[in-house]
Amino acid sequence: MTNRRTFIKKISAIGATAPLVTNLKGESSKKDNPIIVCSRGEDWGEKVLIPGWEILSNNGKLLDAIEKSANVTELDPEDTSVGFGGLPNEHGIVQLDASIMYGPNHNCGSVACLEGIKTPSSVARLVMERTDHIHIVGKGAQNFAKAHGFKIENLLTEKARKIWLRWKENISDKDDWFPPKDNSYNNERSTGTINVLAVDSNSDVAGITTTSGLAYKIPGRIGDSPIIGAGLYVDNEVGAAGATGRGEEILRTCGSFFVVEQMRNGKTPQEACEALCKKIVDINGGTKNIDFNDKIVALGKDGSVGCASIKEKKGNEPKLSYWSKNGFKVYRGTYLIEE
Ligand code: ASP
Repeated sequence: MTNRRTFIKKISAIGATAPLVTNLKGESSKKDNPIIVCSRGEDWGEKVLIPGWEILSNNGKLLDAIEKSANVTELDPEDTSVGFGGLPNEHGIVQLDASIMYGPNHNCGSVACLEGIKTPSSVARLVMERTDHIHIVGKGAQNFAKAHGFKIENLLTEKARKIWLRWKENISDKDDWFPPKDNSYNNERSTGTINVLAVDSNSDVAGITTTSGLAYKIPGRIGDSPIIGAGLYVDNEVGAAGATGRGEEILRTCGSFFVVEQMRNGKTPQEACEALCKKIVDINGGTKNIDFNDKIVALGKDGSVGCASIKEKKGNEPKLSYWSKNGFKVYRGTYLIEE
């Protein structure tokens, strides 16, 4: 009898020997593999990608490479959109979302609304590798992490607490919270998140998306990042895609799945990312209704990359960065609407 585990193993053995799609027309070629990509430019890209590239370039494991890179932002208290130091929900509690997907067996794992654990992508990896489930949320995800020896810690840094408090005190002039006198308040709800995608020297593909989600969200809200096919999707025959920005738009378009399927049908990663941005604008009734942003990055199995966002200030193209045999590079994508 074939149970689920042996079935997955059989499929991955077939996939490893018989890739079905090779018609991708990206800008760089297979000779660039291995390659590791993240959805940020020079500011974060280099430090995020260093540990992952170190592993990939020494023929280490693909999953170790993307996990170690994702952990860099998760553990850094300066980043207010991912892991430790992320902005909290409306009650001042940090709730993290993350997902991971591995091309060779098409397996995946994710956690959502996870409290008290600095590295949700590592927990998502354990869900994928050590359980028969894909998605574990809330207290269950925390208990699962504890069972694996993760420490429960306070994730709300002083920096994030002060930003949150300012937001809370400024929500309304009809409640009992007075804003501080020196009020230089910026009421933009910042977005962030990070996608890390990679192809190893075997041309196997994997990815991670990790985030603290929308700042000041309703407790329990889950964004696109931990939902397979929305904030992340990987197909070993085609490549990978990951999203950041307003998760609700990515959820209702199955954004990352959409991008990978566009690539399967012959679009380059760049064209595929642009197609998703256009679709989001279209379903919202056109550019006049866009008061949010989304950004999508994609990596072809052949090492080609793409990146597009919905709106940016003039000249401020969305960026991704990558590390390959040719060193660290920053890639500038395109945007649809000029702010
Ligand atoms: N996509 C994330 C979410 O909606 C937020 C972000 O990328 O900043 O949870």
